Amino acid sequence: MHYPEPISKLIDSFMKLPGIGPKTAARLAFFVLTMKEDTVLDFAKALVDAKRNLSYCTVCGHITDIDPCHICQDQQRDLSMICVVQDTKDVIAMEKMRDYNGLYHVLHGAISPMDGIGPEDINVPSLLKRLQDIQVEELILATNPTIEGEATAMYISRLVKPSGIKTTRIAHGLPVGGDLEYADEVTLSKALEGRREL
Ligand SMILES: [Zn+2]
Repeated sequence: MHYPEPISKLIDSFMKLPGIGPKTAARLAFFVLTMKEDTVLDFAKALVDAKRNLSYCTVCGHITDIDPCHICQDQQRDLSMICVVQDTKDVIAMEKMRDYNGLYHVLHGAISPMDGIGPEDINVPSLLKRLQDIQVEELILATNPTIEGEATAMYISRLVKPSGIKTTRIAHGLPVGGDLEYADEVTLSKALEGRREL
């Protein structure tokens, strides 16, 4: 297909996004041409601003525009609980549920020896340091119900246990192999409620 260069460049850009194949990319690119110039400029600005103004919280690893993030700075939160999740999107899913009022720690991945990902490659060292610095009573391991997620939960639990901090694992109401972020609020709430001690 021979598109004028600006269009093929736009199509290539859309194809860099996850889940967007050539057909969808072309459809989106041609849609952009029908949009008002102001809307396109706002769209482009939103992309650049999001990239420039967001970073990861140096305490918990959640995505934020201030450091420490809003959650870490919130004095109304239960500081004795930390919920460990794989992804920043999991924090958003947990927050939507509104049943949890503790803190978070975002690992940005899971331990996966097959892929050469060890504890040092994800946010485990920062978690251990945090547990030394503050008084935590319960660590909720809410990694995904996948082989990697389970292995990561077990690994952290074993490391933390000797310190006397209670480690719990969220219940298996979640679909096996699924991501936390896709669980609906009721399922997630039940999984949290049914957590058991490791
Ligand atoms: Zn934070």
